[in-house]
Formats: sequence, C-alpha cells, structure tokens
Amino acid sequence: MELFFSSIDSLIWYPDQLFCMTGSHTTEPFDVGEAVSNLNGGSPSKSTEPPEEPDTNDEPASVALPDRATIEQYVEQVWPAPEFREHQKETVIDVLEKMYVDDNEVVTLSAPTGAGKSLIIYAVSRVISVAEGAKSFVTTPLNSLIDQIDGDDFIDNVTTIKGKNNYSCVHPQDRGAAVDDAICQREDDFSCDFKDTFDTDGGCPYYGRKNRAQETDIAVTNLSYLMANSMIPETEDARFQPRNFLAVDETQNIEDFALNFIGFTIDRREIPINFKLVDDMPEEDCDMEIMVGWLKQVLNEILNRLMELNRKPSLTHTENDDQEDLERLKHRISNFVQDYDEGRHWTKTRDGNTIKFEPVFIGRFIDRFLWKQSEKVLLSSATIPKGDFLDAVGLKEKRVAHVEVESTFPTKRRPVITKQMVGKMTKSERDDTIPKLAERLVEIANFHEGERGFVHCNSYDIMERIYEQLPWRVQQRTMCQDQSARMESLEEWYDSDEQMFLSVAMDEGISLDDDRARWQVVAKASYPFMGDERVNYRINEMGDWDWYANQAIIDLQQAVGRGMRSKDDYCVTYLLDSSFRNLLNKNEHLFEPWFLDSVDCFTDLDVYGKPETNFTFS
Ligand code: SF4
Repeated sequence: MELFFSSIDSLIWYPDQLFCMTGSHTTEPFDVGEAVSNLNGGSPSKSTEPPEEPDTNDEPASVALPDRATIEQYVEQVWPAPEFREHQKETVIDVLEKMYVDDNEVVTLSAPTGAGKSLIIYAVSRVISVAEGAKSFVTTPLNSLIDQIDGDDFIDNVTTIKGKNNYSCVHPQDRGAAVDDAICQREDDFSCDFKDTFDTDGGCPYYGRKNRAQETDIAVTNLSYLMANSMIPETEDARFQPRNFLAVDETQNIEDFALNFIGFTIDRREIPINFKLVDDMPEEDCDMEIMVGWLKQVLNEILNRLMELNRKPSLTHTENDDQEDLERLKHRISNFVQDYDEGRHWTKTRDGNTIKFEPVFIGRFIDRFLWKQSEKVLLSSATIPKGDFLDAVGLKEKRVAHVEVESTFPTKRRPVITKQMVGKMTKSERDDTIPKLAERLVEIANFHEGERGFVHCNSYDIMERIYEQLPWRVQQRTMCQDQSARMESLEEWYDSDEQMFLSVAMDEGISLDDDRARWQVVAKASYPFMGDERVNYRINEMGDWDWYANQAIIDLQQAVGRGMRSKDDYCVTYLLDSSFRNLLNKNEHLFEPWFLDSVDCFTDLDVYGKPETNFTFS
C-alpha cells in the first residue's frame, strides 16, 4: 500500500506536460501524444510540392494585414477556383479583416450548406501564408472531411496528417504493417533509415509525412491529433510548434469531441492489468472520494505494468497494444485525479459493466489542449451553437467577432413542415406515438410516390419499432440501416430501387443530394439522455436549459441540411415528433436564420407542379 501512495503522490501535472516519478526511477516525460494518435482514419496527402522553407523560429509569425483593400488583392491572388460562388469572396475578406485588421482573437463563421466552407478556410490560410509566411492548422473532428480536402481539386499546398494506424510501414522487415504496430514501435533500439525521409521521397509514410506537414504552411489534421500534439513535451522534435492560425470546421461537435478525449470509461475486462492487486470496484452510487481512491489503485497498477513493458527490449504485438491502451488510460485517469483534487466537478455514469467519468465543464481542457496552439482561431459550421457556447468551449474571455453567410438556397425548395406532427416521442409516450408515426410515414411516402425519402429515427430501437408498424407493402420498399455496417447499408440503398431508408445517427457527414432523397422525416427530437449524470447535473443542478435545447437544435438543423445540397436541388423535411413544437417556439434565439426561414415556407412551392400543395394528408 505504501508503494501505491508513493507512486500516485509523485504524479506531477504541468499544463502541457505530464511527468511521472515512480519510486527510484528517473523522471521521464510521458509520450501521451503518440499514445492517443490512433484515434483517427486516413488517406494520403495530395501535395507533392516541395515543402516551404522550415520556420526555425518556434514563435508563430505575427500577421498584420493593413486594410480591406490589401486583403482583397491577396484573396484574388490565392483563390484556387475559376470563380467565386455567391458570398465567398466577401466572406474570406470579412474573416481576415475581423481577425487581422480588427485584431479579434476568435472569429465564428456561420456558413450554411452551399457556402463552400472548405475553400473559404483554405483561402484564409493561404492569404496569411502568402502575405506573411504564417502557418496554419486546419482541423475537423471528422476524418471524412479531411478526405474531402484531400480529394478537392482546388486545394493544394497543404499536407494532411492523421494517426499512425492509418499508414503502412515500408521497411523490408515489416512492410505492410500498420505504423502503430510496426517494428520501430515494438523494438527499443530499432533504427530505421526511412524515418527521416519525406514520404514523397520514398520515406516512411507516417513519420516522413509528419516531417513534411511540420514544414508545410498549412497542416490539415483532425482534432484528436492536434490535442494529442499539445501533450508532447515542448522539447521534442515530434511536436508541431504553435501556429498563427487555427481553423476548426464542424465546430458544433467540439464539446462532445473534447469530452470523448478527456473523459474515460472504466471496464475491468478491458484493462490489461492484474486486478487481483486492486480492491473490488466500489458501488456506483458511492461518494466520488471513494471512487477516486479506487481509481488511484488502478492507476498505480497501470504504472507498474507500464514500467514492466518499458523495461522489455522488444514487445509482442499484444504487449504493444496493451502499452498504447495503458498509456492512454494513464493520462486520462491522472488528468481526472488532478482536476478532482483541485475541486472541479466530474460525473460518473454506470452503463452495464462500465463506468463513464466526465468533467462537467470542458472549456479549460480545450483551452489547454487546443487554443494554446494558435494565436487566432476560426470556428466554422453551418450550425454554430448559440447561447453560452463560447463559454462552454473556453473562449469567453477572448475578443470574438462573428461572420454570418446567408444561405444561397431558395427556402421554398427546402421547406420544413411542422403541421404533420403526430405525438411526443418521449419514453413514456412512445408506445402510443409510434403507430401514428408509422401511419403518417405511409401517407408521406404515398404522397411522394416515385421519390425517395430518408427517415432519421434517433435509435435502433425506434427504427425497428417504426419498421414493424409499417404495412407489409410499404416494408417491401423500405430499407433499414445495418448497425454493424452503417455506411455499407446506406450505399446499398443508394444503389437500390427502395423508396425509403430508416437511419440512425446519420444527421451529419452524408449528402442526400438530388434524387438520393427528395423528402426526409425526423422522427424524434434528439434531446440529451437525462439518465446521463453529466446531463442530469447540467439540468437539475445548473438549470442549463439553453445547453439542453442546443443539443437537439444542432442535430435537427444538421439533419435538415442533409437533404438540399445545391441551388438546383430540393428536399422537403417533415418533423413528426410533437416535442419539436416547444423546441421551435421557445428557442428561436438558438436557431440559425437559414433554418427559421424554411419552417412551413411551403405555400407556393412549385417543384411538384402543385402550387396549391400545403403538405397536409389527413
Ligand atoms: S519508421 Fe521505419 S519501421 Fe517505423 S513505420 Fe516507418 S518505415 Fe516502418
């Protein structure tokens, strides 16, 4: 037991470094950044240009753009497409002006579908690169969006980088192995000649690419990679140095993403340590102090196991996996213990055999792991969360400006219909509502005969219950999302003749353009789950109703945005859950203008050749 306390008490936290002094061992920096880099998925960089000259100064270059006219000249110089779409040029200029002429530290960019966000962000980064040699990070929570940047013919002079597990080793001794499991990860003294050579010159696909990304002015990566970067000791070459500009696309996800990064789940069956040396897990409803004491025991065993593994000259594949998992968990538990001991509130939620630990407020972590890596920040999304979002993500104290881009899509081609609601989909009312919802769905499908429709079901349980209620003849033209092959089942539907697709959690990251879907149904408002202790705390202890409504509003707006993808497209969205009425009536201030404009704007829609259509079926 004495060993346990001497180990834990000697964990010392510094803002950007975590050091461990265990027993008589010398102090060593934890390489946590490497340990967490496997969260990602990947594809090759498109840029084969020689990298720009490395910036030998660790401080980001300062950028001073004198005025709007100068900015406009640069924008015209760097714009990569043959022409600007409506609003694009002014938007790039507005962002640069607010950031570098008005000297705001943060700019939020609300840009609906069709605004061409990727090119806007790219142009901002290119202007400061060309004008001042300044460097940027461009990030998104979703790897699929990094792939889109890689595949965009207009975007060049960037290098994308993701976690090691997305690249394959080229060394003859382990060719084809994933880099995170390659021989250089498992053998202490392994030296590889490919490591320091750029991937574009035949070097290591991961390390060579990372070296190249460090030298390129615009590095495109995902949030987990960049957050993990902040934990690499400042003295290490492996670390990206802070840059002048950081763009975070799909910002609406950042709080959830950071929660997944900072929070952790304990499942004894999944942690490769000797649990015989640890007391039984306390009851879920125990005092947090007791739970923290138990976690310190777990942490102590993690440290002991890591020391064992570190002493080995080479690791098996399993040991290598264990080491990565334990490093990741070590960091998260240490982080929690430190934060808890400083008096900050965390919640614990049991789900079967697991317990999830999450901080109530996440902003200080995002500041430490993300914002500190850049002087200026651009947050962009079609659905920038309103209310106290900036406070929630640690940006309340910054100088902030906002840029709003108008939707260029005619509202009459994307109506959101609220007059078809059938009842509430809360847990207690769902049994009564689902049969009515299925009946309404049949009416909608019949009205849209010959047109394909997409149904957002919120959960697999709801999806299955709706499907069961459909008449046999409608089931015959309906496909359900496959839980174990989500995207594959969607692709299968795209290629099929079935009219309807019942989906779960596909309100982001997919594109239902043109005939893929002419109508959508949102079957349930996706409020956060009140059984989650963090949600419960924010509502019952803090009365944070704006935050609660915001979660459902963002999901709704994202879902609606799936249907209409270009000016000539059209798609009708039906809201069937009566809970949407309260959401709309009480929270107008939390919605995007482009969304509010489209609610029940159906009166003279002519895409069906029926100007009198009012979308009522009963
Ligand atoms: S550094 Fe060498 S051994 Fe390691 S993954 Fe790259 S090519 Fe393979």
